[in-house]
Amino acid sequence: MQIDPWSSNKLEKYAHIFKEFGLNEFKFEFNHYLFSRGIVVAERDFKKIYSAINNKKTFLQLTGIASSGNLHLGHKLDVDFFLFFRNLGAKSLFVVSDIDAYLSRPDSKINNLNKAKEFAVENIADLLALGLKPEEIYVQSNKSNDYYSFAFSISKKITESMFQAIYGHINPAKMSAVLLQLADILHVQKLFGAYPTLTGIGLEQDPHARLTRDVARHLKGFETPSFFYFKHQSGLKQDSKMSSSNPDTAIFLNDSPSTVKKKISRSFTGGRDTVEEQKRLGGNPDVCKVFEIFKFHHPDNEFVKDIDSKCRAGKLMCGECKKLCVDFLNDFLKSHQEKHKEFLPLAKSIVFKKPY
Ligand code: SF4
Repeated sequence: MQIDPWSSNKLEKYAHIFKEFGLNEFKFEFNHYLFSRGIVVAERDFKKIYSAINNKKTFLQLTGIASSGNLHLGHKLDVDFFLFFRNLGAKSLFVVSDIDAYLSRPDSKINNLNKAKEFAVENIADLLALGLKPEEIYVQSNKSNDYYSFAFSISKKITESMFQAIYGHINPAKMSAVLLQLADILHVQKLFGAYPTLTGIGLEQDPHARLTRDVARHLKGFETPSFFYFKHQSGLKQDSKMSSSNPDTAIFLNDSPSTVKKKISRSFTGGRDTVEEQKRLGGNPDVCKVFEIFKFHHPDNEFVKDIDSKCRAGKLMCGECKKLCVDFLNDFLKSHQEKHKEFLPLAKSIVFKKPY
């Protein structure tokens, strides 16, 4: 079996994937809703990170997004995890991968690097609005020669058969994008030293994790990086992934209040066919996209538990619940979008500053 990190399909059957690829179930405890609601599912070598946190030792973090579109709630989750570990003391960098966006995405959407840079400006304004510091963010295309020399030197550690075995194909553009992804994760150790290094990813990104770990083992003076794997937020439609390629499946961070209302009103729920039936039998939050938004993003555990129990007991109807969700999202987005606007000039200066 091969996992395609460039597919936008949903990955199911976690247990099968764990077994096939040697992932460990995530069993570490943190007192935070991101870890208490079953969102984090697996890890590779996380014990090194857990030990560093508990013993107040240095550890590093690298996370990133490809600037191939506007950010949605699914991307916010990456940022929430980044901020969680940054606040626990990780020396952290967040890469906005404009070259990766240009090389890996369909030509029609990102047909030149400038288009990816335009999205990078918007994305970075979002990152700053969510709480990242400017010095924690970099853009692939304006890194210095050292970074690129390192990326090319990594290619000497990867054979054609390794690439074929992990990805199932050899595509020059994607190979180049992969080299930069590996350079991103490993070069934080060149900057800060060979310390335990953490990256949070979705399960479909595991091929990159395996290759990065393989390469790190063959490089002198590098700590093999650790990974944790979280569930992607699913799309608003039944059986969909929240994806920039399909705007109706996602709540974007720049959506207007009326767009949010429209998308939530049309989203798939675990409600029954009639109000009478729902009162009698209760709803099913386990399959409900509205509940998933609360589960992944609402910081108040009591609120989320209350929605869950009232839904199951038939004491909450979907119309009322959707209204709570629209209000929650629009409150958050109003303040986020105001900050985003203020941060745009700073974001532009980060994207277009001289190579460093
Ligand atoms: Fe989903 Fe809320 Fe309806 Fe329950 S009441 S199925 S959580 S929308």
